[in-house]
Amino acid sequence: MEFLQKVVPLHKEFAKILNQCSFFMLSELINKHEVSAANRLIDKASSVAIITHISPDGDALGSSLAMKHYLTSLGKDPVAVVVPNKFPQFLAWLPDADKIITFENSEAEATVILNEADLIVSLDFNDAKRIGKMGDVLLNSQAAKLMIDHHIDPAGFADVNISYPLSSSTCELIFRFICQSGNFQTISQPIAQCLYTGMMTDTGNFSYNSQNPELYNIVALLAEAGVNKDDIYNRVFNTYSAERLRLVGYCLYHKMKLYRFNKVYTVALITLSRPELMRFNFQSGDSEGIVNMPMQIDTVHYSCFMREDVDKIKVSFRSQGDRPVNEFAAQFFAGGGHKNAAGGEFYGKLEDAVQLFEKNLNRLINPESLKQ
Ligand code: 5GP
Ligand code: MN
Repeated sequence: MEFLQKVVPLHKEFAKILNQCSFFMLSELINKHEVSAANRLIDKASSVAIITHISPDGDALGSSLAMKHYLTSLGKDPVAVVVPNKFPQFLAWLPDADKIITFENSEAEATVILNEADLIVSLDFNDAKRIGKMGDVLLNSQAAKLMIDHHIDPAGFADVNISYPLSSSTCELIFRFICQSGNFQTISQPIAQCLYTGMMTDTGNFSYNSQNPELYNIVALLAEAGVNKDDIYNRVFNTYSAERLRLVGYCLYHKMKLYRFNKVYTVALITLSRPELMRFNFQSGDSEGIVNMPMQIDTVHYSCFMREDVDKIKVSFRSQGDRPVNEFAAQFFAGGGHKNAAGGEFYGKLEDAVQLFEKNLNRLINPESLKQ
């Protein structure tokens, strides 16, 4: 017994050392006061609702589900993940994705959860406008609010706002948050799988926004925690239907419009109308990644994709290097996002959205003019 008493405290000390970011060759990116303030909110809460943005992607769902498993391991109960609308089928394998509540389908139930939670954790968005109708419920709820995100210009709606726009993904921030909270040992295989998925999808399988060497330390730690990265790649990127692949072929062969500047193809635009989507039995997630494809052309540095949804035109932008697209998305398509990956919406006809895009193309390739 005496021996045990000596060993157990030593063990705790050792665990503490293990928890230090420096031990993992990670800088303490998140401000210490923010970590403490967030942990005070978490400590006080029993029931937690985790929410994320409309049309949830790998980072949105990965960070939300990782946070759910993490908070559950800390004894929080109940912990619910609520999303505004449907998520793509290729993310349905994420641990506990089957327990996610969709606001669009279960508005009454989701509203009760948000109103009755002690704490609402908002992940991968920084403005209530990004969660559609759920935004009013969030803002009106009496719950304490914590936000963790990596988009620019946070609206600051939460009590604690952890915002690091230079991070690759919200999943990277969640990893750092758990680590900086001294809880690295709670990173189970399900948490690691969720976190890796978000880091992988938000960086295009580590092909952009992925230069920070520390990302690869995190990946190594996630691999040690049980992530099979090749398996996750297959589950996310190689699970499309035949129709989806034919849709990609159709987009590239028939629908890719290229615009020349200085005699070279510089900008690409792909549009899909409702009848075209129906022809290919379009499912949520099927157009994911199409916007990136024209960038494989050597001289194309800007790409735009427009999809005619039931109620609006969804617009996506991508660019390479020091060529921002988020300002253009904000100015002309009521959107925003990251420097090289942004999006927005257009309420009107697809032809009119195209016309607006083409009319202002010179502003896209010359971002300085946007500031005037
Ligand atoms: P995607 O083109 O993959 O839908 O979105 C790329 C990025 O653009 C997202 O991570 C998000 O930051 C941003 N984004 C997409 N749609 C919108 C939008 O409607 N509004 C804003 N503010 N950002 C968007
Ligand atoms: Mn993200």
